[in-house]
Amino acid sequence: MKIGIPRALLYYRYHTLWETFFEELGVETVISPPTNKGILDSGSIYAIDESCLPMKIFLGHVEWLIGRCDMILLPRIASLGRQGSACMRYQAAYDVARNAFRGRQIKLLDYNVDLRKNGGQIETFLSLGRAVGKKRAQSLHAYLAARQADKAVGTAELLHQQDLLRGDRCRILVVGHPYNVYDPYVGGPVLDCLRALNTVPIIADIVDRREALERSANISSTLPWAFNRQLVGAIDIYRRYVDGIVLMSTFPCGPDSLVNEIVVRRVRELPVLNLLIDGQEGSAGLETRLESFVDIIHFKREEDITLA
Ligand code: SF4
Repeated sequence: MKIGIPRALLYYRYHTLWETFFEELGVETVISPPTNKGILDSGSIYAIDESCLPMKIFLGHVEWLIGRCDMILLPRIASLGRQGSACMRYQAAYDVARNAFRGRQIKLLDYNVDLRKNGGQIETFLSLGRAVGKKRAQSLHAYLAARQADKAVGTAELLHQQDLLRGDRCRILVVGHPYNVYDPYVGGPVLDCLRALNTVPIIADIVDRREALERSANISSTLPWAFNRQLVGAIDIYRRYVDGIVLMSTFPCGPDSLVNEIVVRRVRELPVLNLLIDGQEGSAGLETRLESFVDIIHFKREEDITLA
């Protein structure tokens, strides 16, 4: 049996967990390739016009997987319990894909996380194991191994980022959902450009998530969305160590438009660039905006040194 996993949306957050889980169970996985224009174009055909860019990309990845695997893993994350809720689009992803590809020969593997209703993460993985014909003990073993692998990757990323916070090069905190920041078609050009400008991108998603959730209240205590709360908490953790902040969002994202506005009003000591990516080709405008932003940061650094 082959399980297809779309390289989109929450893949960028949970891929170690999912891939290790299936590997431990001896189930082969097929991951769709990194996003390219063809994938975006095919997703745009199936998405409604009002869809956000990541949802269009997600549908493009699902389409790519059709005919290449036996089942496609489609997560539906509604609530992370006390951490908060998820954006409505994650919750709807499963039903949107099922509806968009009705009539095509696809079998979807449901992955429901609703910690308010269905118990913890472990329960969802046990039911995933059942859906691929594995016994409870096998699934439990696979889940524990997956958790361990996920934790090891998270710790290594955090240590690497702590290294980047040392030294005196200009550091820019990049704040965005992992499926935007790490997708080579969406966030890739931004990270490449920041590096080419001799700055060090610090990724807000790489953070102690528990601490970030607590610290988010220092900027806003009323945000309903768990993932946005973690990003806001990461800003509070990293604000002392960076020279500027890039808020990377995709069009049209409801949660980000509200959260970014709050950040701009409440984080006043740092230059903040609000970058809205719409998936259009061409990077000239992007480069110009980032160059100007980095210039502003250098002027501010020089000014701070003169005043010190
Ligand atoms: S948070 Fe924004 S970008 Fe992400 S799925 Fe929701 S609307 Fe789309």
